[in-house]
Amino acid sequence: MALPSSAEKIWFNGKLIPFADAKVHVLSHAIHYGSSVFEGVRAYNTPDKGTCIFRLDDHTKRLFDSAKIYRMTIPYTHEQLNQAQKDVVVQNGFKSAYLRPAAFYGEIGLGLAVPFNTEADVLVAAMEWGAYLGEEALENGVDAGISSWNRLAANTMPTGAKAGGNYLSSQLISMEARRHGYGEGIALDVNGYVSEGAGENLFVIRDNVVTTTPVTAAILPGITRDTIITLLRDMGYEVREQNIPREALYLADEVLMCGTAAEVTPVRSVDGINVGDGKRGPITKKVQDAFFGLFNGTTEDKWGWLTPVK
Ligand code: PMP
Repeated sequence: MALPSSAEKIWFNGKLIPFADAKVHVLSHAIHYGSSVFEGVRAYNTPDKGTCIFRLDDHTKRLFDSAKIYRMTIPYTHEQLNQAQKDVVVQNGFKSAYLRPAAFYGEIGLGLAVPFNTEADVLVAAMEWGAYLGEEALENGVDAGISSWNRLAANTMPTGAKAGGNYLSSQLISMEARRHGYGEGIALDVNGYVSEGAGENLFVIRDNVVTTTPVTAAILPGITRDTIITLLRDMGYEVREQNIPREALYLADEVLMCGTAAEVTPVRSVDGINVGDGKRGPITKKVQDAFFGLFNGTTEDKWGWLTPVK
């Protein structure tokens, strides 16, 4: 049992404890019924402010929102969870890190009913983690394929909650894509419109107009998605949130995927059809530079998105 990093400490139910001691029972409710909510957050080593967590408040807020949807009580404040995320980076000695806050029912619970009288267990882990879709893909792009699995229908499970159980859908989408030789899978919603990647939101660019799928297209409304919308609008681009038909992916000049793990990754082909000329496009490059510029000091953080860990 190892994290892909040298993490020594995990924050678990209010304390920083040794990594090896952060355990739950095999009969815990979360394992059997997927009753967990979580976040993926990144900390970057910046030249001026040292190690900073990116959009910390927004991630913590979304964790509480996800818990609220499932009527789950997180027995800590927003501020305490912010502090836990800072502490776990500092105490593991990381300069940059991927953080995984999560709340779940760790109680033994073999009934389907949520153990309503219990408070959720809460953890924050930190690990060192590079580019999710590969370093090379950041420059050259990823080959994506449309999945035969649709994203969840709005009245089945809320995709606006970042809940553990939702990721069974993501697993089917990404496993199928990889089995077919693609780097990532893209899913349609139940109406047939483009939804999102297995773990990323999508942007389509044609004739200098940028479109991303709306929150009603079974997406997780990503914090990176919001970042990209903000950066592009700040650069003067028109960004629309509207339904995207599948063929728009084939006819786009540029397509990009974004997420905390995937950061900003160009898509160079969809279903074997080249996007544009099959290379990272100019607007994708511009927004990538603006995004990574927040962390290397070349983009001014006008929005207060960077929170120093110390
Ligand atoms: N969609 C899904 C299904 C995801 O898992 C993620 C990653 N959390 C995203 C979109 C992107 O969200 P964010 O930018 O907040 O990481």
